[in-house]
Amino acid sequence: MPRQCPFCGWFGVRAQRGAAIAFRVFPSLTLPRSISVPMCMHCGKHFLDPSKEVALTPTLNACYEARLRVMAQTVVRTLQQRGTPLRQLELTLGLSQGYLSRLGAKAGTPSPALVALLALIADEPTRLAQIHRLWADQKGLA
Ligand SMILES: [Zn+2]
Repeated sequence: MPRQCPFCGWFGVRAQRGAAIAFRVFPSLTLPRSISVPMCMHCGKHFLDPSKEVALTPTLNACYEARLRVMAQTVVRTLQQRGTPLRQLELTLGLSQGYLSRLGAKAGTPSPALVALLALIADEPTRLAQIHRLWADQKGLA
């Protein structure tokens, strides 16, 4: 028997496997098919009750970190293909030597902030020069 949706009011909430839910920075994070999540068949919203979300926290964290690792690997490969020297990038961003190579091998879990920064640089390489200028000038920030 479907339950009532707290968002649209329809009695269309059923368990669904392989759902995509909002989690931390990701508006849509796909869960493994082994996990069943309530979904409204009318409005399409997925949701977890608080007790189930607590029970799933380790799984959600694992999915979240795996997504960050894949994104980091992809962006590091893109930077390499575009000829960005990884060591120079590590120095500019204050990262330890070899860290970007480790991310390129999906070893280590980057912060979402670092993934976003690397993606912005890969998308527009002149941003790296902007960061160099920021560190040199500290204009308006010192
Ligand atoms: Zn609904």
